[in-house]
Amino acid sequence: MFTVGLTGGIGSGKSTVAECFAAHGVPVIDTDVVARELTAPGGAALAAIHAAFGETVMQADGTLDRAALRRRVFSDAAARHRLEAILHPRIRQIVAQTLATLTAPYALIVIPLLVETGGYRDVLSRVLVVDCPEDLQIARVMARSGLAQDEVEAILAVQAGRVERLAAADDVILNTASPAALRSQVATLHRRYLALSTAASS
Ligand code: ADP
Repeated sequence: MFTVGLTGGIGSGKSTVAECFAAHGVPVIDTDVVARELTAPGGAALAAIHAAFGETVMQADGTLDRAALRRRVFSDAAARHRLEAILHPRIRQIVAQTLATLTAPYALIVIPLLVETGGYRDVLSRVLVVDCPEDLQIARVMARSGLAQDEVEAILAVQAGRVERLAAADDVILNTASPAALRSQVATLHRRYLALSTAASS
């Protein structure tokens, strides 16, 4: 199936762009949502995370203590890699299973850390990067989450920079203007992806 991988830094506008594609009827698979489902009560990754990290990342009721896990992996690269080794293969498997059920001309897969992890290239027909200056990312995330500026800057610091991300892009959406401007860029890309997916399947 023809697939477009959507990536971008935190607050760049990935979710907003994905909503615009969904409004055109494009199926959207968000790997962050898949990750949350895998770690929700009854989720398929919960037991492995409990076994790898112990009681300190679990709450008394047996659900995941997300804040504790986030603190644990944020400051410890080895722990982060251990968590990724648990989650990434399971996410990939669910993405592949979901793609196999779709009949649309193409699908959008939201992969926030596409550039950082280097995965998924084999299942992606194209990479779409949503880009904006870092000061705008910071302002948007502060407004959305209530995090302080230095907390947002710390997240940006562990993500790929704009230049590195843009180097991986087949297509770019510059999200510096209004939501209407964003919708118009998505409409243009949607037409292009329909044409490309039709050409690829004929
Ligand atoms: P990401 O998914 O990349 O973290 P979001 O799509 O959630 O980013 O966007 C971050 C915040 O900025 C959200 O609150 C969103 O509504 C807002 N936003 C995104 N694009 C625009 C835009 N062009 N104009 C105004 N606000 C925007």
